[in-house]
Amino acid sequence: MGRARAKVNRAQQDSKGVTDSGWIIPHPDGIHIVPADVWIDPSRPRAHAAVTHGHADHARSGHGTVYATPATLAIMALRYGVEEAGAVPCDYGTGFVRGGVRFTFHPAGHVLGSAQIAMEYRGERVVVTGDFKRRADPTCAPFEVVPCDIFITEATFGLPVFRHPPTSAEIAKLIAATRAEPGRCVLVGAYALGKAQRVIAELRAAGWHDPLYLHGALEPMCRLYEAHGVPLGALRSVADTPKEEMAGAIVLCPPSALTDRWSRRLPDPVTAMASGWMRVRGRARQRQVELPLIISDHADWDELTQTVADVNAKENWITHGSEEGLVRWCELHQRQARALHLVGREVEEVE
Ligand SMILES: [Zn+2]
Ligand SMILES: [Zn+2]
Repeated sequence: MGRARAKVNRAQQDSKGVTDSGWIIPHPDGIHIVPADVWIDPSRPRAHAAVTHGHADHARSGHGTVYATPATLAIMALRYGVEEAGAVPCDYGTGFVRGGVRFTFHPAGHVLGSAQIAMEYRGERVVVTGDFKRRADPTCAPFEVVPCDIFITEATFGLPVFRHPPTSAEIAKLIAATRAEPGRCVLVGAYALGKAQRVIAELRAAGWHDPLYLHGALEPMCRLYEAHGVPLGALRSVADTPKEEMAGAIVLCPPSALTDRWSRRLPDPVTAMASGWMRVRGRARQRQVELPLIISDHADWDELTQTVADVNAKENWITHGSEEGLVRWCELHQRQARALHLVGREVEEVE
């Protein structure tokens, strides 16, 4: 903890001319909104937590009051069995006031229920993106540009090497792989919250209406998405399906199941994985992925820089990923920026 805090202090010294806003203080374990005593995505239990979305590095269990969108609260309840008593649902466009700070939730386009959180206090507005992306996703509301004075943005793919190809091209590769070897199935590793449902919805949009086969670990979240109005078409459980029936089919599983014994029940699977990290060849090799699909729920480099320009804040605070790359870009474009170096924000490896 001591070392992480020292890092933040160094970042503050490094960032010439950029100062803390006073009422909003980035700590290694979350962003503290001082007059409200609310923490955003805290990595330790807090009395009042505002949570941007349901991924494990943002939504932890054990808080007192949790402010989040209804879908995020449902996801947290599914994952942690969260204490319903402390849940305060905040729809997009609404929020709450505490300690004189007005909190408002806006779509982040990352996964179902994902929100940016805007805060206004004494005439100053700060927006925390949580994780976000700009490109179309049939499973969640699109990102909204919220003008502000201080923009606190993620930078998972904050390096120019990260440019995601069009999603439709990656889905076309997946469909082509099933046709190339109809005696085999294609097994797609996809993160259980967000990525799996997005791959399914994109396949439907591309005209794939055959049943899709699921590893048991993906079923509850798919049902939750459907209950929140995201149709996923015919879904079958691998456990209930004879091996032969899955020849020529697409099967989805969590990335951890790609190479485990479970996959032996499938007909000679072609191993695929859907992740922004599939851009990095070594990552695909390391996971023995034959068919890397570059499908990400995070903004790529162009989306990040476009968003910084669109939001046009006085200051940009950058966290969660390749911070220095985006800080450097801001400096080159005469925009104030600093890196926050929050800990406990290791990106879900395959998100
Ligand atoms: Zn996330
Ligand atoms: Zn994240």
